[in-house]
Amino acid sequence: MVLRLSKLFLRTLREDPVDAEVASHRLLVRAGYIRRAAPGIYTWLPLGLSVLRRVEQVIREEMAAIGAQEVHFPALLPKEPYEVTNRWTEYGDGIFRLKDRKGADYLLAPTHEEMFTLLVKDLYSSYKDLPLSIYQIQNKYRDEARPRAGLLRGREFIMKDSYSFDVDDAGLDASYAAHRGAYLRIFERLGLEVIPVAATAGAMGGSKSEEFLHPTEIGEDTFVRSAGGYAANVEAVTTVVPDDIDFSTAPAAEVLDTPGTPTIDTLVEASNRLVPRSEADGGAWTGADTLKNVVLAVTLPTGERQIVVIGLPGDRGADLKRVEANIGRFLPVAGEIALEAANEDDLKKNPLIVKGYLGPGLSLDEPFLGLEGAAKLLYLVDPRVVSGTTWVTGANEAGKHVYGLVAGRDFGWDGVIECTEVRAGDEAPDGSGPLETARGIEMGHIFQLGRKYAEALELKVLDQNGKQVVVTMGSYGVGVTRAVAALAESNHDDKGLVWPRAVAPADVHVVAVGRGEEIFDTAEKIALELEAAGLEVIYDDRPKVSPGVKFGDAELVGVPTILAVGRGLVDGVVEIKDRRTGEAENVTVDKAVAFVVNAVRNSR
Ligand code: ATP
Ligand code: MG
Repeated sequence: MVLRLSKLFLRTLREDPVDAEVASHRLLVRAGYIRRAAPGIYTWLPLGLSVLRRVEQVIREEMAAIGAQEVHFPALLPKEPYEVTNRWTEYGDGIFRLKDRKGADYLLAPTHEEMFTLLVKDLYSSYKDLPLSIYQIQNKYRDEARPRAGLLRGREFIMKDSYSFDVDDAGLDASYAAHRGAYLRIFERLGLEVIPVAATAGAMGGSKSEEFLHPTEIGEDTFVRSAGGYAANVEAVTTVVPDDIDFSTAPAAEVLDTPGTPTIDTLVEASNRLVPRSEADGGAWTGADTLKNVVLAVTLPTGERQIVVIGLPGDRGADLKRVEANIGRFLPVAGEIALEAANEDDLKKNPLIVKGYLGPGLSLDEPFLGLEGAAKLLYLVDPRVVSGTTWVTGANEAGKHVYGLVAGRDFGWDGVIECTEVRAGDEAPDGSGPLETARGIEMGHIFQLGRKYAEALELKVLDQNGKQVVVTMGSYGVGVTRAVAALAESNHDDKGLVWPRAVAPADVHVVAVGRGEEIFDTAEKIALELEAAGLEVIYDDRPKVSPGVKFGDAELVGVPTILAVGRGLVDGVVEIKDRRTGEAENVTVDKAVAFVVNAVRNSR
């Protein structure tokens, strides 16, 4: 098709939109791809729609290649299925809820696990019907706390979401692997670098999960990677666990007066003053010798508040996001929780806790924390606290600490949890070298849901032996509108967008520059021939628009090849420019079409 700029519904803008913080947002608005309708909600204009369609097309082809079939659900859904899985409540303020005229509750779906599960339950009943993978490309609604960066974090956005259904774990593994492969191919074809990182399953439940992060400074997700290829979301990083230490000859623990030492810094300073340690014994005391006990309050899905204490080496901070992602298995009820440092009120209700001097207790016979300790508080420790490690920690009395307290000999714990901040330089758990931190945008996310949704909604099929079995599921999402933004973000310069061929709104942008009739006639002819050769063509046929404006618009819009018909025509040549490299070449009129067709073909 030839899109004529004299007719195309397009207005490019010279000024940046005031609310745009990132380049993709600024340029997509300025180049006339999208318009803001409300915070985090965007209208798609013709050029934007063609990029969006091209991205969707790549996704559809790769979904078809793994045998996934497309369906389409409504976005407006009844509350009931989401009540069964408790997500109506768990989503909190994160979703849009509404009522119909009869007062019945509805929601605008943030994701569709429940509906897909029920659809399959509706239609299928035998193992012979499985495996099945179905997907949709559809609008999702989330009342994001901070809609941000245009399409990157919208409140209405398009997601490709697929769901797999299998009779057994091996089947789920295969469906998951197929999706993983498809995702890598999708992002490869889109020209969008992604790193699959290990993720925690979070509120979705289930076991295995990976996110596909596009590395960029403007990303909101922090992840870590090693030179040797390990990559994980910070929440999912596991600590390299040291070996247990033989404590048979360790001296007995000793309680000492350490007045005015409620913090790690003051404790380290006082220890070096009051009980200096010889080089042979480990040299000067540091934060790493201390066991810090942090009191947290968890708000359970039931609304109840539970106190949890975590013990970690004092030279590290607690990372509450990591605690939150990993604490589920220690809590009495499953579901969304909130976690924060305990407040004065919590401490008042637990008068045994001496702030600044809390410790796990002095002997296993009389535990203070953990293993049904006196304070009856759940006590979890960092994986570095292994049996035989020796610590300086609170003696549960103001102004007193215990020295030489041995893990496993003098104190125990209810469980081990990933709870400390991950630092650059920490070892990767697979031995592939030290970790470095990086930022990224989550482009896709794949989950092994397992039987959580199928169980809640009773999706069962008959297996080979005629027995009813609960189906096991996976769910797999790609942010489609987010992909458009990420592509714009990673493909632009100071003049405008620079689309990769796979998603550009057209293959070539023909510009008629100057006045003569001959210029317009030749440009028109070339545009039509390019179209006849099967290319998508934008043709700037606007009369009385200055060359500067036309070139400026072509560069802003970002089609990979710009063909200008202008002054060179008296010598029988047109100028063909590569938007990415800026390289321009004069090509004779009769060879121009073949030249462009080749350029397009070679770069596909
Ligand atoms: P995030 O952590 O960025 O909020 P999420 O983990 O909540 O995302 P999922 O539920 O895993 O997102 O959704 C699948 C995909 O949908 C994400 O990987 C992302 O690409 C996309 N997505 C999620 N939320 C948004 C949003 N508000 N705007 C645009 N795309 C989104
Ligand atoms: Mg996610």
